[in-house]
Amino acid sequence: MKIMIHGGFFSESTQTEKTKSLKQEALKEIIQKSFSYLSDNSAVDTVVFAVSLLEDNPLFNAGTGSQIQRDGKIRMSASLMNGETKKFSGVMNVESIQQPIKLAELLQNENDRVLGGEGANLYALKRGVPNFNVETEERFQEYQQRLKSSGQGTVGCVVLDKNGKLAAATSTGGKGFELPGRISDSATVAGNYANNYCAVSCTGVGEDIVSAALAAKIVTRVTDGLSLKTAFLKSFEELSEFDGFAGAIGIDAVGNIHFSESHPQIVYASFDGIQLSVFQ
Ligand code: ASP
Repeated sequence: MKIMIHGGFFSESTQTEKTKSLKQEALKEIIQKSFSYLSDNSAVDTVVFAVSLLEDNPLFNAGTGSQIQRDGKIRMSASLMNGETKKFSGVMNVESIQQPIKLAELLQNENDRVLGGEGANLYALKRGVPNFNVETEERFQEYQQRLKSSGQGTVGCVVLDKNGKLAAATSTGGKGFELPGRISDSATVAGNYANNYCAVSCTGVGEDIVSAALAAKIVTRVTDGLSLKTAFLKSFEELSEFDGFAGAIGIDAVGNIHFSESHPQIVYASFDGIQLSVFQ
């Protein structure tokens, strides 16, 4: 059993040392809780559990604490991939939902598994998911100053469970200050992908992640026989051809873990029950 989570990028320019250590502490606590949850639950249930805890923490740009878009609204995206069933589900640009990853989870059982905007919100209403104000004072102040704040604080989780099954989940409030209607990578197979060989969750500039088809590409390379590390290296090399800004965490079927980043530093943690590592 192994779990890896990320809290997106940490940008030195706009966040203080204090925020960095707070994020690291939060990751530590969440990964330990999620690992104990994993001992009695599947990979797919655990990635949802971990990501919903990250969404509830206002330090991260997902759920509560999400970035505000140019028109003053918060629109969030999240997706879930069950590596065993190969089912991808997600929501794009939902508003006023406490834990968008839970909506993605509900959609695993539907024929139409990726919903956007108004339709996704109507679906939430129909399924009894209450409205929830995810805006925090801090994000509002940033918005007021028309700052394109550091933003990259998307969250994600990849898990290998005790039965050898893999899953990935990713959730975001977006880049911050984007045009209304912009689609994030986080609810696409470029930002979040898994099968029986590998699970990957990405963060960074969604446009670059989609251009590189990053998560799907890494997973495909591992499926075709490359090691996790080589698959990451090769895919990030291709990303650098256009100076793509991205980071990703990944885990394979035998529990190897890896992360790469193209620009600043991604905050992430990994845990296998013994070794707990938290990196900036
Ligand atoms: N990938 C997210 C997006 O572009 C942002 C992030 O990872 O911080 O919407």
